[in-house]
Amino acid sequence: MKPAAFAYAKARSLDDAIRLLGAHPGEAKLLAGGQSLIATLNMRLSHPSLLIDINDVAGLEGIRVNRGVVEIGAMTRHVTLERSSDIAKHAPLIARAMPHIAHPAIRNRGTIGGSLAYADPAAELPACLVALDGEIEIAGAGGKRSVKAADFHKGLFETALGSHEVLTAVRIPAATAQTRVGFAELARRHGDYAIVGLAASAKANGKGLADARLVYFGVGATPVRARAAETALAGGNIEAAVQALDLDPPDDIQATGAVKKHLAGVLLRRVAAQLQGDA
Ligand SMILES: Cc1cc2nc3c(=O)[nH]c(=O)nc-3n(C[C@H](O)[C@H](O)[C@H](O)COP(=O)(O)OP(=O)(O)OC[C@H]3O[C@@H](n4cnc5c(N)ncnc54)[C@H](O)[C@@H]3O)c2cc1C
Repeated sequence: MKPAAFAYAKARSLDDAIRLLGAHPGEAKLLAGGQSLIATLNMRLSHPSLLIDINDVAGLEGIRVNRGVVEIGAMTRHVTLERSSDIAKHAPLIARAMPHIAHPAIRNRGTIGGSLAYADPAAELPACLVALDGEIEIAGAGGKRSVKAADFHKGLFETALGSHEVLTAVRIPAATAQTRVGFAELARRHGDYAIVGLAASAKANGKGLADARLVYFGVGATPVRARAAETALAGGNIEAAVQALDLDPPDDIQATGAVKKHLAGVLLRRVAAQLQGDA
């Protein structure tokens, strides 16, 4: 299929993009890497009358590490994150997740802002941001605001972004000597969206772990924290954490909820071993 007809505008600046969104209420879509948007247009799941290309907007790209915070511009491509020594050192959970996102051709164009804004429930980066207790910067006609990653994803393909707003950057605390991370997912083929995935962070606390954040993807409409399992894991017993898994995944086209719940336990054993092995 081919997309329905649409107009195209290249935004010259962030203000220009916000102005164009405001001038076409509910009818315009931002074009970032295009890796999800163009597919939805081609399948006629979406039919905006205007695409606003933000690829040439200055200031939306790049990785900065400053005063214990890693800031990543929304237009930073997946491939840049994958190859960045700053991300490997200061945001190792993201480095671990990147090779699981789609295929190299898609990672060459896809952006972190696009991935978060698209809000696929099986995507890796939204879960990583929640596991890292990150925040998301949003710009609109009234200025800028920040939203905690845990509050950003509201439902299936639904976020805290207003229709006239642009996601401009994400911020996460830089890893310290105590930071421990773990990541695993199960997909039918490498590069497919996960059936179930788990992104995790914790702090080494002697021989144990503190502040564990276990965030699943592919098990609900948004990233899902397994809080009872987090508490159990703090006691150091991985099997107790698996038994405590407080997830109730719905069936989807990839697997039944029961299979997903079983796989969530398999992933927890792997990820907990990563967290403890590092510790
Ligand atoms: C075959 C295939 C496999 C894939 N597998 C995976 C996978 O395993 N895991 C995964 O996470 N992703 C996967 N993806 C998606 C990929 O990661 C996309 O790059 C990503 O979801 C969207 O990023 P984008 O920059 O291409 O955004 P676009 O496609 O340009 O935009 C997506 C949506 O976000 C909006 N948007 C984009 N940028 C902004 C912004 N800065 N502010 C506000 N709104 C914005 C757009 O208007 C649009 O609605 C896959 C894609 C394909 C085609």
